[in-house]
Amino acid sequence: MKATLTVLGSGTSMGVPTVGCDCAVCHSSDPRDRRTRPSVLVEYGGASVLIDTTPDFREQAIREQIRKIDAVLYTHTHADHVLGLDDLRPLSYHHKPNKLPLYARPEAADFLRNMFRYIFDATYKFGGLAQVELRIIRGPIELFGARFDPVTVIHGESEIYGFRFGSAAYLTDHSTIPEASFACLQELDVLFLDALRHKPHPTHSTVENSLRIVERLKPKRAFFTHICHDLPHAITNAALPPNVQLSYDGMKLDFEI
Ligand SMILES: [Zn+2]
Ligand SMILES: [Zn+2]
Ligand SMILES: [Zn+2]
Repeated sequence: MKATLTVLGSGTSMGVPTVGCDCAVCHSSDPRDRRTRPSVLVEYGGASVLIDTTPDFREQAIREQIRKIDAVLYTHTHADHVLGLDDLRPLSYHHKPNKLPLYARPEAADFLRNMFRYIFDATYKFGGLAQVELRIIRGPIELFGARFDPVTVIHGESEIYGFRFGSAAYLTDHSTIPEASFACLQELDVLFLDALRHKPHPTHSTVENSLRIVERLKPKRAFFTHICHDLPHAITNAALPPNVQLSYDGMKLDFEI
């Protein structure tokens, strides 16, 4: 089935421009150097699946004219991936009397339940709550005729998820990809990888490290995300191999799911 992936945000946790920064990238006039927090939307057969709800979700949804979300998959619970959960409210109301399903690993679901207690705690109810429900990821998920496979990656000291769906995979926030996960990432058309910057970081991949992953997995097309203000779009892209590009906010690509 044909699918479209839209990059809602391609930036690192602080976003680009970064608050209070006077560097050249933060002052760049290239729109691709404006990076909201990292998230993608996957659309196929009339279904819309969102990966992560960033603090910029509201702005991203307005920019991309998102009219509905059928499910949300969470990679992990860092602030830059979850803090837009409340902005699902208007889209969640379309699901009444049902609820918009949010999929997360067991410990991530516990964390979200705590963090957004006013939504999930029945004793704490008041009007205007997001109509959402948590579902635990225990293996591959069937969503509207497509299969989403969780792919374990290491993010600093935590084990978190990326996802493979059809011929594409989206891995954000990884410092290492465990050997066992490579089997799930073969024969890809599209591969998204974390590439924060050039300088090593304890919880994120670098351009150089992610290029090595591309070299090993040989996807047809690779895109880097979770990018900080160290990487000017045009200059960085020009130095990358032809099948690898920095992603940017609003970028859309077609693939098979
Ligand atoms: Zn992140
Ligand atoms: Zn800057
Ligand atoms: Zn993170």
